Amino acid sequence: MRLSRYFLPVLKENPAEAQIVSHRLMLRAGMIKQQAAGIYSWLPLGYRVLRRIEEIVHEEQIRAGHIPLLMPTLQPADLWRESGRYDDYGQEMLRIRDRHERDLLYGPTNEEMITDIFRAHVESYRQLPLTLYHIQWKFRDEVRPRFGVMRGREFLMKDGYNFDIDRDSALHAYNRHMVSYLRTYERMGLTAIPMRAASGPIGGDDTHEFLVLAATGESEGFYDDRVTRLKLGDRQIDYDDRAQVKAVCEEFTSLYARTDETHDEAAFAAVPEEHRKAGRGIEVGQIFYFGTKYSEPMGAMVVNERGERVPVHMGSHGIGVSRLVGAIIEASHDEKGIIWPEGVTPFHCGIVNLRQGDGAADAACEALHAGLVARGLAPLYDDRDERAGAKFATMDLIGLPWRITVGPRGLAEGRVELTSRRTGESEAMSPEAAVDRIAQIYADR
Ligand code: ATP
Ligand code: MG
Repeated sequence: MRLSRYFLPVLKENPAEAQIVSHRLMLRAGMIKQQAAGIYSWLPLGYRVLRRIEEIVHEEQIRAGHIPLLMPTLQPADLWRESGRYDDYGQEMLRIRDRHERDLLYGPTNEEMITDIFRAHVESYRQLPLTLYHIQWKFRDEVRPRFGVMRGREFLMKDGYNFDIDRDSALHAYNRHMVSYLRTYERMGLTAIPMRAASGPIGGDDTHEFLVLAATGESEGFYDDRVTRLKLGDRQIDYDDRAQVKAVCEEFTSLYARTDETHDEAAFAAVPEEHRKAGRGIEVGQIFYFGTKYSEPMGAMVVNERGERVPVHMGSHGIGVSRLVGAIIEASHDEKGIIWPEGVTPFHCGIVNLRQGDGAADAACEALHAGLVARGLAPLYDDRDERAGAKFATMDLIGLPWRITVGPRGLAEGRVELTSRRTGESEAMSPEAAVDRIAQIYADR
C-alpha cells in the first residue's frame, strides 16, 4: 500500500475527549471515528487490526474443533421471553419495534438464538458434542460507555456455545475453550490471566474471566504473580485429549487468581507474600458452564444412549474482539505511539523514503514494496513528499513493528536500514536482505 493513496487521517493534536492512552492513540492514528456515544466507525487502519484479530480468533476456534456460523444482530423478543431474560436483562438491552408492532432487540448475546437453532436440528446424542460460534456485533446500552472501543455500546464479540450430552463432556468443552483462548491471546502478544469470576446475567457456577493487567482496566483481580509467567508457547495440543486439555487448564488455574467478586482473603493469605498481587485488568474474555439453564426452559433436548429425552448441557464463551484492539495498545505502546505485536499488526512493515523524487531512492522503495508483496506480506510505503521527521513520526505513531528506511546516501553503498519499533535498534543491510529478514520474522505467523 502506498500511503499517498491510502486513507490514514492521523491527528496532530491530542483529542481532549480521550482519557486513556489506547483511546487517544486510536484516534490519533486514524483508526476509529466516534459516531455516537459508544458507537464507532472503524477507519481503514483500525479495520485492518480488527480483521487480523478476528482471523486469529477464527483460526484458534477452528483448531479447537468449534464451528463458525453467523447469526443476525436483531433478534425476536419472543425467544427471550422463553428463557425469561426479556424482562431480566434490563436497560442494557436495546428494544426495537418494527412496522408490524413486533418486538425485536439488538442482541447483547446469543444464548437463546443458538438454543433455538439447536432444538430445530439436533435430536440425538450421536450428533454431539457440538460447539458453534460466531463473530458478530453486539449492542449493550451501557450506562457509561467510555475509553473508546474498550467499553462501547456497539462492539464486536466472538461468542461460542457448546452442546454436550452430560456435565463431564461440557466441562471438557469448557477446558477446550480455556486453552484455545490462552493460545489466542498469546498470539496477539498478550498475557491474559484466567481468573475465577462471578457469572452475572449469563448464569452458572463455573466461570473464568481473562484479564490483561493494566492500570486503566475496569476489573479488579487478586493473583499470585507467578501466573503471569506461564506460557503455552508452541506446545502441541490435541483438543480431543481430555486429560491433556485438563492438565493445561490446571497448570494455568492452580495458582491463586480471582476477580474481586470471588476473592477469598483466607486463600489469598496462603500465597507467599512476595507473590501476592492485587491489580486492575481489562476483561478480554469470559467462559461459562451453565448446564441446562437454557436447554431446559427452551426444550433443547436430545435422546441419550438409553433412549431417554434429556436437556443438553451447555456453556457459552466470549472474546471481546473490538475491546482487544484497545487492550493490546494499553499493553504495548510508548510515548511516540502504538507498538503492534507482529501477530496483529495492520501492515507487516513500513517503508520510509527519505528523499521522495530521487530516482534511485524511489526505484529502491518500489522494488522493496514489490519484493515484500511477492513474499505474501503487506508493506505500507510512505511515498509522500514530506520531511523525514514527519514520516518517522507517522510510522512511530501507527506502530508498525518494522521499518525499512531508504535514502540516497545508504543506497550509494547498497544499503537500507531496518529498524525495530520496539527496541529502536537499526541495522544496515542490502534491500534483498531486509526483505528476507522481514519474511523470516513473519514466516511462522
Ligand atoms: P464487562 O464486565 O466488561 O461489562 P461482561 O462481563 O458484561 O463485560 P461478557 O458478557 O462476559 O461481558 O462478554 C464477553 C466479552 O465481551 C467480555 O469479556 C469483553 O471482553 C467484551 N465486552 C463486554 N462488554 C463490552 C463492551 N461494552 N464493549 C466492548 N467489549 C465488551
Ligand atoms: Mg464477562
